[in-house]
Amino acid sequence: MKHEERITFLKNNFSFDEFRPGQEEVITALQRGQDTLAVLPTGSGKTLIYQYYGLLTRQKVLIVSPLISLMQDQVSRLQAMGSRQVVAITSMLSYGEKQFILSHLSLYNYIYLSPEMLAQPEVIRALKTAKIGLLVIDEAHCVSEWGSDFRPEYLSIKDVIKTLNHPVTLMLSATADEETRTDILAKLNLQIDAVYQVVESVNRSNIFLTGQNFENVKAKDQQLIKIVKQLNGAGIIYFSSKKQAEVITDLLNKKTDKKILAYHADLDADQRLTIQQQFMQNQVDVVCATSAFGMGIDKDNIRYVVHYHLPGNLQNYVQEIGRAGRDGQPSLAILLYAPGDEYIQVSLNSHSVIDSNIIDYYWRHPQPDNESEQAQLLTYYWRHDYEVKKVQQIFKQREFTRQNELQQMLNYVFTRTCRRQFILNYFDEQSVNNNIQDFCCDKDEGQLAWQEFNKRWLKPTKANTSQTQWRTILHQLFLVKN
Ligand SMILES: [Zn+2]
Repeated sequence: MKHEERITFLKNNFSFDEFRPGQEEVITALQRGQDTLAVLPTGSGKTLIYQYYGLLTRQKVLIVSPLISLMQDQVSRLQAMGSRQVVAITSMLSYGEKQFILSHLSLYNYIYLSPEMLAQPEVIRALKTAKIGLLVIDEAHCVSEWGSDFRPEYLSIKDVIKTLNHPVTLMLSATADEETRTDILAKLNLQIDAVYQVVESVNRSNIFLTGQNFENVKAKDQQLIKIVKQLNGAGIIYFSSKKQAEVITDLLNKKTDKKILAYHADLDADQRLTIQQQFMQNQVDVVCATSAFGMGIDKDNIRYVVHYHLPGNLQNYVQEIGRAGRDGQPSLAILLYAPGDEYIQVSLNSHSVIDSNIIDYYWRHPQPDNESEQAQLLTYYWRHDYEVKKVQQIFKQREFTRQNELQQMLNYVFTRTCRRQFILNYFDEQSVNNNIQDFCCDKDEGQLAWQEFNKRWLKPTKANTSQTQWRTILHQLFLVKN
């Protein structure tokens, strides 16, 4: 198949004129029948890759994804578009629903599977008869035991690959350094030199990086109101707490004339879909969201992403700001910080870490029927004959990793040097091209200091028409009111 034919197929079926970086290379490798590991930043259209491949080859696609809300959103979205051939098999299904789906797998072209389903023999048996043409492992870094997102169920994938007679396998991640990539392949029993790797840079040169630190939350709120009032176009504001997202949504609706909605995991799939659609159709200006938002969103013209709370690590930060500017147009990332914001993350971390004494107790008194999240996790290791010391070591290591990642995130908040370079260093990438320095960040030497930038950006005057290119772009984009 030639490039022109691929483009025609893309236009006819997905209404895009060209591929985003990495997409075509991955599709070509899959067409050769090669297992592929693709590290593509958020907004690079990972979903399109397997939808394209499934449609082109008319083969069934099985997608393992740890994000149940994302799966439900994808299914609702495809169904709303008229496709009935997509289904998600998760623990949210009733017994009857699950039985029906498993005995009618031939009806579906795209089958989403949550990781815990991998451990259910009846599910695997049904999949075996369904002739899977492509196995997609979304968020493939979750297979890495030392990573902070480790999902023990992901370790079963290597058996699934074998049981399904090794279909072409696509591993997707937005962030996986070399060490993690090697670990992913090892954990899946795939030969490193047999797997094709596509790794795109995390750098998004059309996103201007800024941050601002405040003395207290009140000052931060005031600045947020100012930002939302002044900025033009669609925006997302990220929160680490659902309650805060709601509170600030009310505040912004009162204090600005923008239409603002809150979005978080407590809403059901229909409500989430409605908000997504309104946002896509520009009926909503700003969404105040937790990290659940945006994963299934393919909105090109998001002009800014504000972080009201800092995320737990730079991987998440880069993913979340990556939802801005998918159309390639200049966009803005704003990180707001008030002292103590990091404690939300510290507290979230402590929930996901299991104390050595609890692990020790579990090994002496196993509770396989206990349905708490913590017990389920321990049950997995216990069933797979892990030694207690090894499990304690895994959780110690994970706690350390998360603390370290959060510290790096804070270092980014307080950095005095180029933010983009900071991010690239963190991801072991080379330095940026000189030609994007004009549109980089608020920390670059010789550029406008943040104070002045902020002043001009929020309060335009006729006096500053002689600006360098990036200031002009920011002006055109964001300065709408006097
Ligand atoms: Zn910079």
